[in-house]
Amino acid sequence: MADAKIRVTVWNEFRHEKKAGKPAEIYPQGIHEAIAAGLRPDAALSVRTATLDDPDQGVSEKTLAETDVLTWWGHTAHKDVKDETVARVQKRVLEGMGLIVLHSGHYSKIFKALMGTSCSLKWRDIGEREIFWVCKPGHRIAKDIDDHFVIEKEEMYGEHFDIPEPEETIFISSFAGGEVFRSGCTWKRGAGKIFYFRPGHETYPIYFDERVRTVIRNAVHWAAPVANAPKQDYGNRKDGWWK
Ligand code: ZN
Repeated sequence: MADAKIRVTVWNEFRHEKKAGKPAEIYPQGIHEAIAAGLRPDAALSVRTATLDDPDQGVSEKTLAETDVLTWWGHTAHKDVKDETVARVQKRVLEGMGLIVLHSGHYSKIFKALMGTSCSLKWRDIGEREIFWVCKPGHRIAKDIDDHFVIEKEEMYGEHFDIPEPEETIFISSFAGGEVFRSGCTWKRGAGKIFYFRPGHETYPIYFDERVRTVIRNAVHWAAPVANAPKQDYGNRKDGWWK
């Protein structure tokens, strides 16, 4: 396994970009292709894309079995993701697949299912300045990110963000309007690692930003399955450890 590549599936609902408008102008190939383009130069990764309108909503049993880390961008079509799709993804996370939930994916069925909370937040879209502050220097997800970085125009997300207490808060954002937000948070569920990463509103070219791409790439490395992870079924141990 040492030399095996990390198999990444970049999932996108791919609805905004199919209609005329800002998202289609910025992401003519779809948001997923911009995210994938930020990952493909990394020789340690093997990257594919999947979208909601693909067979099995892009995440068949086979695709999931061949995925080490799944990234998830959704917004306008959360309700179209079938419950059986959510169940498949959730099962794979518990088995050890990493999951990176991006921006408006905070309201996706899969994120809410894994968190168990409403995942609601405050938002305002006037294109304001966002400063990302690194709260965990030295963490794998913050590699090559120096202290902070600034995005000139983004949608604002503000606290309170209704999530379970993160195991790690890697980034906090402050916005021009004064709100703050936990912009990079981690959890574990079963054997799977989960990272929520805030940036990526569809009307700004966020996924072409090298710093955003660096964080997503880092997160893929962090979220990849590890050997000796927790199992989902330990069985009846009536013989005991001493046998
Ligand atoms: Zn948004």
